[in-house]
Amino acid sequence: MGSVTRKPLIAGNWKMNLDHLQAVAFVQKLHWTLKDAGHEHDTVEVAVFPPFTDIRTVQTLIDADKIPFALGGQDLSTKDSGAYTGEISGAFLKKLDAGYVIIGHSERREYHHESDADVAAKVQAALRHDLVPVICVGETLEQREESGPTAVSVEQLKVALEGVPADADVVVAYEPVWAIGTGQVASPEQAQEVCSALRAVVAASLGDEAAARTRILYGGSVKSGNIASFMREPDVDGALVGGASLIAEEFAAIVRYQKHVGV
Ligand code: PEP
Repeated sequence: MGSVTRKPLIAGNWKMNLDHLQAVAFVQKLHWTLKDAGHEHDTVEVAVFPPFTDIRTVQTLIDADKIPFALGGQDLSTKDSGAYTGEISGAFLKKLDAGYVIIGHSERREYHHESDADVAAKVQAALRHDLVPVICVGETLEQREESGPTAVSVEQLKVALEGVPADADVVVAYEPVWAIGTGQVASPEQAQEVCSALRAVVAASLGDEAAARTRILYGGSVKSGNIASFMREPDVDGALVGGASLIAEEFAAIVRYQKHVGV
């Protein structure tokens, strides 16, 4: 299961930050920072995940200025339409040219009590609308101490992939809860151990071909200073970045990890 054909993906999860006006300034700044640095988008894919209220604006800007960023939602409904106040359909995201949607982020699991079954239903909803689900899994510190580093993520991913066809395009993000927004980053070896176990789950669920092409990201306090050490690991194909994705220069430096550390 070599990593040669997997294009690295650096994804910025803005969470509930940047309104639609701030989003315009941010995307322009990120674009120009990468352009000035000579970033070649065919080497590393860049994706941004703004709040729902920004997506139309960001899509218009990306479209008008031919900015080569992929766009995604931070969540979606399990339903496609109907009387579900406050929910957002995958169909609406697709209509705004979103290619991705984050599913099962630990903040949704914790604050909105999303279960593994909810996550699985959202994965199905994403696939129905031709969106690539970015399936987030990861353990708390207590779970790591109780059941080891891989058990929780492996189980979460197994459930999320139930009923997913072998040819589906999915992205997996390993985000240890204890490393998200805490500054307490996992070591590259810890990330590799879990990402490798997750690739084995993709192989068991979707087959070897899917496992070889599926991108598995690490997320949790990623910064320009540590990204290269993760990207050296054979089963880490990119990063899901929270806090550092809100600073254009810093996020651009993460995208350009190959340049500043020579991976
Ligand atoms: C995240 O929330 O997906 C995340 C990885 O956050 P941070 O980079 O801030 O730890």
